[in-house]
Amino acid sequence: AGQLIVHVRVAPLGDEYILLLADDRTEITRTEAMRNDFVANVSHELKTPVGAIGLLAEAITEAADDPKAVRRFSTRMDKESRRLAALVQDIIELSRLQASDAIVQGQEVNIDSVVAEAVDRSHLIAEEKGITITVGGHLEEPILGDADLLMTAIRNLIDNAIRYSPEHTTVGVGIRQRDGYAQISVTDQGPGISPEEQERVFERFYRVDSARSRQTGGTGLGLSIVKHVLANHGGEVSLWSQPGHGSTFTLRLPLADEEPATSNALAGQT
Ligand code: ADP
Repeated sequence: AGQLIVHVRVAPLGDEYILLLADDRTEITRTEAMRNDFVANVSHELKTPVGAIGLLAEAITEAADDPKAVRRFSTRMDKESRRLAALVQDIIELSRLQASDAIVQGQEVNIDSVVAEAVDRSHLIAEEKGITITVGGHLEEPILGDADLLMTAIRNLIDNAIRYSPEHTTVGVGIRQRDGYAQISVTDQGPGISPEEQERVFERFYRVDSARSRQTGGTGLGLSIVKHVLANHGGEVSLWSQPGHGSTFTLRLPLADEEPATSNALAGQT
């Protein structure tokens, strides 16, 4: 769908003929537009914390004889600079993933241990909200891939589940094997995501609730990174959710000894 962009060049061939050269620029134009979009979004997102840090530095100087105010401003400054660091890290990660749409020819990865470590690393932030993380099921067979990238993807899902859920709820991580694929699901008891928004949450910088996402330290890139990691593994991510009844994100990855999936259609789209 969409329009076709063609560059046409005309060259006269003697008196009677002309030569028409048509060059299909649709894909190139689309990629350029996407890149410009990304740069515009990134600049916009960076401006917020950078601006805040500047203002807070000024405020600290002005409030020099009020230790309480200084402490308050510097705590906020610390928060903003962490946000900036997280944002820069996610931008780098996403650009790296977008640069290659090749399927990762990785090592054998044991999903059980990647999940166990991801849960372990998210433990502290879960505890702060009184959230329990449970892990059910396991997988004997390895998958082929990059353990660090898969860890990033699984952590992003678990961290989102914690971030958007109310206190004292449960986040369930499930591991199982189905039709030659490993399936890892992350289920929460949070607010859920409406059908109209379910596609869009995988777009770069798309947030259902901007203020809430920023406040909880979200960069708006987490799910976009998940989508690219999965595409680079010949897998996919899907979402089931009903507003008011939580969300389940499911990752599907081909098992090592099965024919690898060739579809990599998602890479580079958003
Ligand atoms: P963010 O850094 O804002 O969390 P993501 O790309 O990870 O960025 O997610 C995009 C948006 O999708 C979030 O801002 C949030 O509105 C929504 N979202 C993601 N995960 C969940 C979840 N488990 N429950 C409810 N909403 C979610």
